[in-house]
Amino acid sequence: MVMRSERPRLGLILPAYNEEIVLATTLNKLVQIKTDLIKKGMVRLDSFILIVDDGSTDTTWDIIYAAHQEHPNILGVKLSRNFGHQPALIAGMSEGIKLADIVITLDADLQDNPDIISRMVADYQLGNEIVYAVRSSREQDTWFKKYTALGFYKTLSILGVEIIPNHADFRLMSRLAVQALLKMPERHLFLRAMVPLVGYQSSQVFYERGRRQGGVSKYPLKKMLNFALDGITSFSVQPMRYLFGLGLIVLGVAGVEIIYTLAQKIIGNTQAGWSSLMISIWLLGGFNLIAIGVVGVYIGKIFTEVKHRPRFEIESITNDQQHQELTKQ
Ligand code: UDP
Ligand code: MG
Repeated sequence: MVMRSERPRLGLILPAYNEEIVLATTLNKLVQIKTDLIKKGMVRLDSFILIVDDGSTDTTWDIIYAAHQEHPNILGVKLSRNFGHQPALIAGMSEGIKLADIVITLDADLQDNPDIISRMVADYQLGNEIVYAVRSSREQDTWFKKYTALGFYKTLSILGVEIIPNHADFRLMSRLAVQALLKMPERHLFLRAMVPLVGYQSSQVFYERGRRQGGVSKYPLKKMLNFALDGITSFSVQPMRYLFGLGLIVLGVAGVEIIYTLAQKIIGNTQAGWSSLMISIWLLGGFNLIAIGVVGVYIGKIFTEVKHRPRFEIESITNDQQHQELTKQ
């Protein structure tokens, strides 16, 4: 194992969408954590916090701007609209890594316990390029979220998608790892399955996920379901293969049905065919619809991917000099 001797410049990356209620508290806590790490000599003095304002409609950007005036090492990037959690994370990482040696992404609501950051940095110093923060329990969750999450992880593993159970987007990545991640051009982002594909030496740090420290969840059920569907269809073509298998089975059943019908006809018992006809029509109609739906999901993906639209658009950055430094690279 390689021990690293250089102190890294750390960038803490936070996506924030309408987080005015909790953001100031979060920033206070993180400034404190950052100061501690600097004092312990674990990270460089110019380590920073970068908040990505994901098109907030409240005063989130004003809070970021004011914080930047007070602490020059709090930086902000404002996206031109709400792009979503995952694109906001990519935006933060790609901007942050221009300045930092390592980035740690975490939520703006303090649910990702920042007290384990020092353990994550220590793991990086041991030679890891990626350090995953993994929840040690799901006691904070409602039973609904707990069981849907469990079902989701199970489905993904059956479909052959490799992800770390109970790890979301709280992780440390070195410049090497971020650069590798940024080479993946896709628009449908599901970072927790993309990051393991990067490879390199990695480790896990366990933590208890806390409650949201203020404000409300920005992940309503509909967004969560869409995210889960993206996770499955962006990483696995198994559903299409299953449909192919299903098609073969239906074909087999149809073969038996044809022989049976012909036999009935030969006997002269043709009137009895009505019910089997109805059942066949409905069954096949159903299978067809499912099949078209699944194919449609993939075609929809091809449609959005081939457009190669930018994944995010930056409207402004907290300070101009910073902006120049970022854009000249
Ligand atoms: N978030 C974002 N854009 C969005 C939705 C969420 O940047 O469109 C941020 C949000 O501000 C928070 C993080 O993503 O920092 C996780 O969201 P949230 O805490 O609402 O999700 P939950 O913890 O309820 O799953
Ligand atoms: Mg949260």
